[in-house]
Amino acid sequence: MHYLIVGAGLWGSVMANRIASVLNQPVTVIDKRDHIGGNCHSALDDETGIECHRYGSHIFHTSLPQVWEYISRFSEFTSYQHKVFISCKGRVYTMPINLSTINAFYGKNFRPAEAAAFLKEEIARDAVAEPANLEEKAVSLIGRPLYDAFIRGYTHKQWEHDPRELPASIISRLPFRTTYNANYFNDVWQGVPRDGYFSLFQKLLDDPRITVRLNCDYESIRAQLSSDCMVIYTGMPDQLFNYKYGELEWRSLRFEWETLPVQDYQGTTVMNYADVEIPFTRIHEFKHYHPERQEPFALNKTVICREYSRTYARGDEAYYPVNNARNNELYARYAAEADKTPNLILGGRLGAYRYWDMDKAVADALHVFETKICPRENRS
Ligand SMILES: Cc1cc2nc3c(=O)[nH]c(=O)nc-3n(C[C@H](O)[C@H](O)[C@H](O)COP(=O)(O)OP(=O)(O)OC[C@H]3O[C@@H](n4cnc5c(N)ncnc54)[C@H](O)[C@@H]3O)c2cc1C
Repeated sequence: MHYLIVGAGLWGSVMANRIASVLNQPVTVIDKRDHIGGNCHSALDDETGIECHRYGSHIFHTSLPQVWEYISRFSEFTSYQHKVFISCKGRVYTMPINLSTINAFYGKNFRPAEAAAFLKEEIARDAVAEPANLEEKAVSLIGRPLYDAFIRGYTHKQWEHDPRELPASIISRLPFRTTYNANYFNDVWQGVPRDGYFSLFQKLLDDPRITVRLNCDYESIRAQLSSDCMVIYTGMPDQLFNYKYGELEWRSLRFEWETLPVQDYQGTTVMNYADVEIPFTRIHEFKHYHPERQEPFALNKTVICREYSRTYARGDEAYYPVNNARNNELYARYAAEADKTPNLILGGRLGAYRYWDMDKAVADALHVFETKICPRENRS
């Protein structure tokens, strides 16, 4: 059987690597973009030599030993530990909300137990027994002052809706830490590929049994495929079925790039902007992902990228699913249709209509390979 994988992102590339190296089968991987790596793609900026993540900052982090073992075969990772800062009313704080954020915001010098007791009172002041919207839910988790400062404006920009109009279910947790731990991720393993994501993907796909075709949309070759070709599709399910049950909703992003004549613009990789008057949600400054690359780091130039959130319209890149009841039901219909279609498997974060971090995408690809592809191969 010949395998066609639609999408050279992380999920599709892991699947191609497994089919070629474990099953010894030929695989063709196509992507409509002009590069491999999907949203994880990074490349050196021509002018500055700085490694830039083309679709927003990507930090690999996981607590899944099998994923870390597998991905480490294709790249060494640096010891980069992600920290996020947030600018609010002209001052900068650390995120997620921790003892440093709480003390700086309230002008206090609380110890952990004092901070916990203080926030309990803040929360009780606006307590809502059954939060009916995102704002009420957030206030019930962290209290109104912290919500107003750090969550309200940012959420408004992310969703282009007042948080009072958004369902409470969008947030299940809004953690605050009563320690000074300001690490963004709690995972056991974390870093960025020492030689960049492009090199990692080159190694994943470096197999004589794998053929990669870029600038190739599935629609343009669909009619020519033989009936015994096994299609593993990591694109949008509604598009695959010509929107026959309706359109799934997504959030999209716009990235505004700028090269500045300064050595260091913001002193860190990611600065969030909480205030609603500032139209973007965050600024990425990519040289900070690789302080070990001395030449581009010391250069008197830097590359930054402002990230804006927007509603998806056909033709945009779909970044985040909008997992409300309407869309989840619609997705279930497309997934059932895919299950009924011979020689078709939906995969990847688009195909699953889920937000997945990279480690979950790898774990899922490995799982689908073991549970769906290997049994078919054994039968044939
Ligand atoms: C802004 C942002 C930041 C993120 N940051 C992190 C992070 O820091 N850490 C982390 O772990 N995860 C992060 N993620 C998640 C990470 O990007 C995903 O886990 C990962 O990209 C999933 O890989 P994928 O292969 O499923 O999807 P994708 O990377 O989207 O790959 C799908 C590919 O399919 C191609 N395709 C789709 N339709 C067609 C078609 N019809 N024909 C041909 N090709 C097609 C697309 O062009 C694309 O290249 C982030 C995501 C976003 C949106």
